[in-house]
Amino acid sequence: MQETPPKLPITGKTKLLGVIGYPIEHSLSPLMHNAALQALGLDYVYLPFAVKPEDLADVMAGFAAIGLSGFNVTIPHKQAILPYLSEVTTIAQAIGAVNTVWYTEQGWNGTNTDVVGFLAPLKALDRDWSNTTALILGNGGAARAVVAGCTQLGCDRIQVVGRDDKKLESFLQSWCQSPLSVSLSVHHWKALPDLLLEATLLINTTPIGMFPHIHQSPLSEAEIDRLQPGTIAYDLIYTPNPTRFLQQAQARGGLAIDGLEMLVQQGAAALQGWLDQPVPIATMRQVLQTHLARA
Ligand code: NAP
Repeated sequence: MQETPPKLPITGKTKLLGVIGYPIEHSLSPLMHNAALQALGLDYVYLPFAVKPEDLADVMAGFAAIGLSGFNVTIPHKQAILPYLSEVTTIAQAIGAVNTVWYTEQGWNGTNTDVVGFLAPLKALDRDWSNTTALILGNGGAARAVVAGCTQLGCDRIQVVGRDDKKLESFLQSWCQSPLSVSLSVHHWKALPDLLLEATLLINTTPIGMFPHIHQSPLSEAEIDRLQPGTIAYDLIYTPNPTRFLQQAQARGGLAIDGLEMLVQQGAAALQGWLDQPVPIATMRQVLQTHLARA
């Protein structure tokens, strides 16, 4: 087994990375990134910053003034940060949200690594996705990355299910101007029983079943019975692991993917971008698995 290098002392030369959000105390990003930075033996530290929405402009100016190398962005700043960025990648424009920012001489640039993170465990399956009908439960922020991911994967059909017709309609409209060529349909939750018969990739992007509501599932037993055996069930939730939804799908002969790998891979993609070098993904995964098993 490879030995982890000793922790470097923080000095005047230590470079700074971090994550902004509000609240931020439950973020697992500091744990994951500092484990990777330590394994690489780099003189960096990654810190959580609780930033209230009204303080975002001051914080951006302050980060530039102190020379922060880069930072992650989480709720509630993923969209609000867009006006402060001088360049935004196509994928972040398509999703309309940024989760990774870095400093350049021209100002702050932003991207979104959630799509890379979402896709990593699917691409690892190494299969042809062209006959896939992707059924996405929920139409919030994470669903946007999932729609972009399913588009990049080349899924034949992308169907999004939600409980609010107005939100569904504006979700659909938001893709009209997208730089990605996205084709999707939106459906009210009551259409779910019929849609489940066709789904070959079923993705939960709602928080239903997340700790502490571990006995909940977005699908009833009767709905799960409508799944085709072999359907891939992907839950973006990573605690508990597995969720009730994934247990139900597995019992029906489905293949289960939990949200931990997405969390790890979106973090790894951000860190790799900041450092411009390969990062120890296994270390990042291990530190989170150990932490979540203890929690
Ligand atoms: P969000 O923007 O609040 O969206 C949540 C969506 O779920 C909304 O469409 C919401 O519908 C729907 N929803 C919530 N409760 C529902 C219920 N009881 N019945 C039906 N629909 C319901 O949240 P998000 O940022 O997309 O995050 C969603 C989940 O993904 C969270 O569990 C989060 O932890 C997880 N996530 C994981 C990763 C990862 O790396 N693994 C990354 C991002 C997110 P309304 O709009 O009608 O309320």
